[in-house]
Amino acid sequence: MIGAVDIGGTKIAVGMVSDSGRVLSRHELPTDVDSYANGLATIVSMLRETARTARVEITGIGIGSTGPVDPFTGRFGEVDFLPGWRGQNPVEDLARIFKVRVALENDADAAAMAEAGWGAGKNKSRLIYVTVGTGIGGGIVIDGRLYRGVDGSHPELGHQVIDPAGPLCSCGFHGCWESLAAGPAMVAWLNANAPAEYPHREHLTAQRICQFARQNDPLARQCVEREAYYLGLGVANLINLFTPDVIVLSGSLMKSAILFLDGIRNMICRGCRFVPFEKTEIAMASLGDDANLIGAARVWHDRIQQEASHASRRPHRGRTPASSKR
Ligand SMILES: [Zn+2]
Repeated sequence: MIGAVDIGGTKIAVGMVSDSGRVLSRHELPTDVDSYANGLATIVSMLRETARTARVEITGIGIGSTGPVDPFTGRFGEVDFLPGWRGQNPVEDLARIFKVRVALENDADAAAMAEAGWGAGKNKSRLIYVTVGTGIGGGIVIDGRLYRGVDGSHPELGHQVIDPAGPLCSCGFHGCWESLAAGPAMVAWLNANAPAEYPHREHLTAQRICQFARQNDPLARQCVEREAYYLGLGVANLINLFTPDVIVLSGSLMKSAILFLDGIRNMICRGCRFVPFEKTEIAMASLGDDANLIGAARVWHDRIQQEASHASRRPHRGRTPASSKR
């Protein structure tokens, strides 16, 4: 039974996840930890509590986290909502406390692994996972293995430039996919284009805009059309670059995917003619709101499996191949 830990910008979720990816018990708290020691203590007590609720013993721990994390050393980089976590190592600490093996991954990579192994990408060789919410993130899984950049780095699908004349992004570029097509971009566009008398200005969110669009509000519909255009451009770029078997769409905005899918498919048809784009399936994530939690558990399974297969391929001591003596 794997104890799964999902560390996000707004909440820390912990759960017990079975060998088949089923969440047996879960608990979450807002991410308002003031120090690493308190954060770690909170996670430890949540793990113990959820294990007790599910009446299981923890045999391993998987962590998925936002922000720059080193998947191999377990060390955290600078995460703005986790003060004092930089340089800390929850992998080593949880392993010491629970006396089990612990694996850590970027949360989008973790969710990508979960969808590839237990979700919408099951039995697909080449999968790209994209999550659209307050930002845009994603992960790439090829033949069951996570694609990693140099030194284990996590590629940033959300920071591909879609329009260099677009808004400034925190990464330094203008007009990244994230700055044009994440939830806040919808809100910003509507605020900038709504007349003073527009009735829905207060407490606007991307989800509410989608709701107004479904009620035929003309401005909200225009906003949704623009969103589908930019989502489509980013997805089309991924198809031109990778031509995967499947692109799995996830995140809070994709709960309204029905509003965007036709627009996304139109963009793909317009500009992907040099690749067999019709073979790339556009699928919705199937693991729901627990995808990150399930992903954290999947990370543990995949990492331990990988290590086991490496170990079995290593030549045994004393049986050095003859060729190496030459
Ligand atoms: Zn950017």
